[in-house]
Amino acid sequence: MDAIAIKHNDEIIDLQTAKEIGFEGEKILLDNSVDSLKVLRHSTAHLMAQAIKSLYSDAEFYVGPTVKEGFYYDFKTSHVIGEGDLKTIEKQMLSFAKKKYEIEKYEISMDEAKEKFKNDHLKLAVMERIPGDRISIYKQGEFEDLCRGPHLPNIGLIRYFKLTKISGAYLGGDSKNEVLTRIYGIAFADKEALKAHLDMIAEAEKRDHRKIGNEMKLFTFREEVGAGFPIWLPAGGRLRARLESLLFKAHRKRGYEPVRGPEMLRSDLWKTSGHYQNYGENMYFTKIDDIEFGVKPMNCVGHIKVYEEDLHSYRDLPLKYFEYGVVHRHEFTGALHGLFRVREFTQDDAHIFCTSDQIEEQIIEVVDFVDKIMSSFEFNYKMMISTKPEKAVGNDEVWEISTQALKNAMDKNKLPYEIDEGGGAFYGPKIDIKITDAIGREWQCGTIQLDFNLPARFELEYNDESNDKIQPVMIHRAILGSFERFIGILTEHYAGEFPMFIAPTQVAIVPIAETHNGYAKELFDKLMDIGADSEIYSKNDSLNKRIRTAEKARVPMIIVLGDEEVSGRTIAVRDRRTREQYNLSEEDFLTLIKTKINEVNF
Ligand SMILES: [Zn+2]
Ligand SMILES: [Zn+2]
Repeated sequence: MDAIAIKHNDEIIDLQTAKEIGFEGEKILLDNSVDSLKVLRHSTAHLMAQAIKSLYSDAEFYVGPTVKEGFYYDFKTSHVIGEGDLKTIEKQMLSFAKKKYEIEKYEISMDEAKEKFKNDHLKLAVMERIPGDRISIYKQGEFEDLCRGPHLPNIGLIRYFKLTKISGAYLGGDSKNEVLTRIYGIAFADKEALKAHLDMIAEAEKRDHRKIGNEMKLFTFREEVGAGFPIWLPAGGRLRARLESLLFKAHRKRGYEPVRGPEMLRSDLWKTSGHYQNYGENMYFTKIDDIEFGVKPMNCVGHIKVYEEDLHSYRDLPLKYFEYGVVHRHEFTGALHGLFRVREFTQDDAHIFCTSDQIEEQIIEVVDFVDKIMSSFEFNYKMMISTKPEKAVGNDEVWEISTQALKNAMDKNKLPYEIDEGGGAFYGPKIDIKITDAIGREWQCGTIQLDFNLPARFELEYNDESNDKIQPVMIHRAILGSFERFIGILTEHYAGEFPMFIAPTQVAIVPIAETHNGYAKELFDKLMDIGADSEIYSKNDSLNKRIRTAEKARVPMIIVLGDEEVSGRTIAVRDRRTREQYNLSEEDFLTLIKTKINEVNF
């Protein structure tokens, strides 16, 4: 197989450029590796531009980068282009690809380039941002585009692609600018990979938590309330409460103490912590009697105030405080997305104050906690250790020790991890937890961060054996990340078919007639006593309709109560998860439910 590009010092260089400057390097072949797909997808963006230009001759083009979802190109034309035109553009792309044009590269001066693209105000805007006075042009057939590359050697290599989405996008992402048309697409080296990806997208659409959340009445968003502020409906409230109480127990068993800091703290404190200077643009501020307050974007400072409340000796450490901390962060309206990106959310946040000797053991314990939770939800996960970034506080030795402590903790648990060089927080290294859901998508959830900065800024201390004042280390950690985002992920992961232990309702009780309502309530109470939530479907609808409603709400167990059940104290069960129907005595039924909801214990 011929190379499509080469890799030189971690940089992908296309063959056109390599020939020009006589570079040699590792061959990149046409396959589904990250490097190969980058070149392929970016070249597909140009092929799309070529097709668009031939279909809509007044089209002007901005930029066509690769992104996580594949690639896109932003452009402008007087034609109104919609979803229905994507097929036409694809067809045109294929017909160009069949012509197997070579992709040629040549360089011209900036002035020549400005002359060449003088009718394309978007390309002129792109050139404004390019330093230097040479511009490289890529030519395929009649079509020319200015770009840095890297590109494939020939457009005939592009075969397996799909245009996936059309949307509007502000020029340069700035809402003050004009709106361009953006078309997204995806490309792979072979047919199978493309199909697998498209199947995954179709499945993801079916599982969209906004759609399922609406069907199951878990949560809602209302324009008059404000974008990015979720409203939890009763079913979502129950699901969330269940998750919260499971986690509460799990924290207590591991020696965490529940605490709660205020929602707003004086700005002076945010100046001490550094949030004011480093995170201020994401915060909301208000005034009380001329004193400025910041609404908390994180819970750290509150927990530091808890720590400061007492004098501590080394014998007290580690101290672990946890809080379901409601935080507010400013997000751009365009970035908001269901429960995944909101402006108010609740973190399962905790801070561990410990000695530097305790770091490793504490990290192991948190990693174990993470494992317990993620495997209970049947997530595969991996961990990334992020090391010292360029802009960082604290001395190198401390960074070295703490990064090594994170690595040791992982090694001792035989947990695989990847290194994200330079990806740490400015105050310390961290472990990020990335989970993979049922349809293979990766999500960044919790994080474990070591911090030497805040304890120093707040001059925290404890007394060691010789009564010397020592500064403790702070570990920030969240496992779910936030309840909002995690519940969004869970909804898509399970396609709304939540396992019994977190389902918003464990049992739907459907009395056949009004005379059976008494027994229904009796069962409701008995279920509640064993920690199971149920709903009585006694509305004035037909029996079948009520059963269908319960099924639509994806309740794992439905029981129907009639004369026979009431007199015999038996239960007719429909198990939605196993798709079985059977009868049980009331006692056996309650035991079954109790076992099922206790199957998972963090
Ligand atoms: Zn390009
Ligand atoms: Zn924190």
